[in-house]
Formats: sequence, C-alpha cells, structure tokens
Amino acid sequence: MLIVMDKKASPKQIQQVVEAIESKGYMARPIPGGDRVSIGILNNKGPVDSGLFISLPGVKEAICVTRPYKLVSREIKPDHTLIKVGAVTIGNGHLTIMAGPCAIESESQAMTIAEKVKASGAHIFRGGAYKPRTSPYTFQGMGLDGLKILAKIRDTFDMPVITEVMDNETFDLVETYADIVQIGTRNMQNFSLLKRAGKSKRPVMLKRGMSATLEELLMAAEYILEAGNSNVILCERGVRTFVRHSRNTLDLSVVPVIHKESHLPVIIDPSHAAGKRDQVIPLSRASVAVGAHGLMVEVHHDPQNAMSDGAQSLLPEQFDQLVKEAQSLFKIVRPR
Ligand code: PEP
Ligand code: MN
Repeated sequence: MLIVMDKKASPKQIQQVVEAIESKGYMARPIPGGDRVSIGILNNKGPVDSGLFISLPGVKEAICVTRPYKLVSREIKPDHTLIKVGAVTIGNGHLTIMAGPCAIESESQAMTIAEKVKASGAHIFRGGAYKPRTSPYTFQGMGLDGLKILAKIRDTFDMPVITEVMDNETFDLVETYADIVQIGTRNMQNFSLLKRAGKSKRPVMLKRGMSATLEELLMAAEYILEAGNSNVILCERGVRTFVRHSRNTLDLSVVPVIHKESHLPVIIDPSHAAGKRDQVIPLSRASVAVGAHGLMVEVHHDPQNAMSDGAQSLLPEQFDQLVKEAQSLFKIVRPR
C-alpha cells in the first residue's frame, strides 16, 4: 500500500504517518516525489487496512499496490528516477553512453581505449577488473591492479567508471574505486550480493539474468532498493534462446514494459547480446529507437588480441560512428 500525502503536508504530519505505520508492525518508506511525499508500506504479510491511515492529518489517499515489486514500481513512484554520477545524469531525457573493453588488460590497453571512447563522446568508461568467466582456465581479470587503472582513467579523462563486482568479499574494494557498481547477468539473483549492493553509496547497474523474466529482474532490483539504495539502473543484455546467429537474443520488447512498470532507468548492452561485432551498431540503433536511456558497448583497439570478448568488441572508429548515429536518433525519438 502507498500512502500519498497532501502537497502541503508538514514534515511532522509525514512523521506521524510513518510512526502509525510502524506501530502496526509494518515498515514505512517515505518516497519524495516532484511535489509531494508518498509513504510506501512494506513488510505486510497480508492486506493492509487503509482505514488505519486515511484519516490521519496530511494524508490525501491510500493506493493499493497491485504488483509484487513495490519500491521499483511506477505505482509507488510515478516520477522517473534520475541518477547523477559526477557530471553525468542517467535516466529520462538523457542518452548515456558507457564504453570500454570487456576487461582491463593493462594500463596502456585501458588508457588507449579510454582516450578514444572519450573523444568519440562516451560519458562513462567501462572495464572489468574481476571477470566472471565460463572457464576457470581463462583470464580472470587484473583484480585490484585493474581497479587502480580505472581510477587513473577517471582522473585522466574526467570520466566516471563502471566495473563489475562479483562477490561480497570484494564489494568494499570495488565500491571504493567504482563510480557505478555493476552486477552481472550471472549474479542477478545472488541475493546476498543484492542486499550488500543495497547498503552501497554507489549507484548499481543490475544486468538481467540470461534466463530471467522481467518480473524476476524487477524483484532482484527490489532487493537493492529495499536494503536502502534507490540508485539502480536496469540493463538488458540479451537472453538465451535457441538461435545460433547471435550469442544471445536482445529482448528489446522489455524496454517499453520497463517504462510502464518501473521508474528506474534502463540501459541496453548490445555487445553481450550480439556476441558479434557486426550486429552491435544495428542493435544500438534499435535500442535508442525503442526508448533505452543509454547503451553499454564493448570497444577494443586490438580486438584480435583481446583477452575476452574480442569478437563482439567494436573498433574505435566503429564506436565513433555508433555514437554519432545514436545521438542523432535520440534527438528524433526523445524517449520517456
Ligand atoms: C560484462 O559486462 O563485462 C559482462 C560480463 O556482462 P554480462 O554479465 O552481461 O555477461
Ligand atoms: Mn564482455
């Protein structure tokens, strides 16, 4: 249930409603909106009696939340969530481009790519320091040394950085270096990691599990918001299907549904969906057209020798073309 306060409700009236909710054994979560505050009622095991709260001073109405997810839902928060990372804003009205190699391989590799993607108009640099690899015998990432290279890129190119956190053990370290913490497809339902992410001061980009439904993605995001972190970005990166012509199938249809169901921004990663370089630009165009708030794209200056995901990494000049096309399409589409 959502208690919507009058526009003119005082902080004292809001506090009284919070206390009334808590006195019934529920959890109260005030949600500031554009011109009024709403208070979500959480932790109720069954239906809540709206009559308990509707007559309190400053209360406008009580709305029954029909979805299993609450804090991520538009029912609870009709306004779009905008996420600020340094000078970059992610969300409605912005097309944010994140780019960089799959993995940080060396300082010179990362700096070379960062310089190029920055010059082409990327807003945020991506690169994995801890890599979730299918085989334990392949490159696992540079770890702390990779995080330090990311910090150098932030300082040199004045670009926020995003990198993946794989487990609770390294969370403290990763969030010290990252401007945005990424939770990968394989960890979308790692609930202890989601709860830890909910305690982080950093925005979190949550990638859709490769066989997760939209409801499962939103419920996973709900864990992060419920634990206290409302700066969550959703990411569609392709789901596993029967096809052989691409690594995964990019589920573009999820974007308009996310806009309807949730106030959180949604970024599309066409690189891991495609698995092949030649599909990345067409899929990026489609992503912008369907209303994504941004793209995450893998770029490598020497993809033949990349230590991971070279086949799907764009060459810098292709990335340059992608940014131009994406930004001009965005001017036409202006998604919600
Ligand atoms: C990545 O972005 O580097 C990555 C491993 O992506 P995913 O979790 O979507 O496979
Ligand atoms: Mn990759």
